[in-house]
Amino acid sequence: MAGLILQEPDKYETMRQRMVKTQIMERGITNPLVIDAMKKVPRHLFVPKGSRDEAYNDYPLAIGYGQTISQPYIVAYMTDILKPGIKMKALEVGTGSGYQAAILAEIVDKVYTIEIVPELAKESESRLKNLGYNNIVCKYGDGYQGWKEHSPFDLIIVTAASETIPQPLIDQLAENGRLVIPVGKPYAVQELQLVTKKKGKPETKRLTFVRFVPFKRLPE
Ligand code: SAH
Repeated sequence: MAGLILQEPDKYETMRQRMVKTQIMERGITNPLVIDAMKKVPRHLFVPKGSRDEAYNDYPLAIGYGQTISQPYIVAYMTDILKPGIKMKALEVGTGSGYQAAILAEIVDKVYTIEIVPELAKESESRLKNLGYNNIVCKYGDGYQGWKEHSPFDLIIVTAASETIPQPLIDQLAENGRLVIPVGKPYAVQELQLVTKKKGKPETKRLTFVRFVPFKRLPE
């Protein structure tokens, strides 16, 4: 039986290394911090048990409650765009499975993450704790308002599609900070945008087309 226990991590380890090579590196991601994080985080433990064998495939997967864990390449691409550094503080809106938070937590000093579906917020908090990510702080709530008490953030990542960029998030971005967000209508193709703050002024750049689950709001 002990052999069986050893076999499982090996199988996923092989799948993960192949995923990083063919989906991440061969598509042009070169930042070693991003590559190492993608090589390390056990993505199969962030998806429902029945989907583990698909966890390293080149597409998003359902995680329940109508939500998804993004395709590995999108996670790597968005992380790369943020230019994460080891001393930085990050905010994520849309914890979902916790996978993107874990990737960031492998690189930066501290990650704050907010999830609006209470069940997912609870599940991902305990998952991240069990995996030993003690530099991630989870919260249930509407990420539209950001997390003022921990601001300013060097990096902000929104993983749900919003029709506009929430002003509180721009306000909570540090000087020279970077915010990446899919902007556009729900259930359509959206545009990934990068906001950088220079001398207090936000500058927006359009990056590429993506498809994310909708940004939701809690009644005020
Ligand atoms: N980053 C996630 C992907 C999650 S999909 C991962 O790595 O698995 C987007 C998530 O954003 C969903 O779980 C959805 O419930 C959540 N979400 C949508 N609107 C939100 C809001 N206003 N505040 C916080 N979370 C939100």
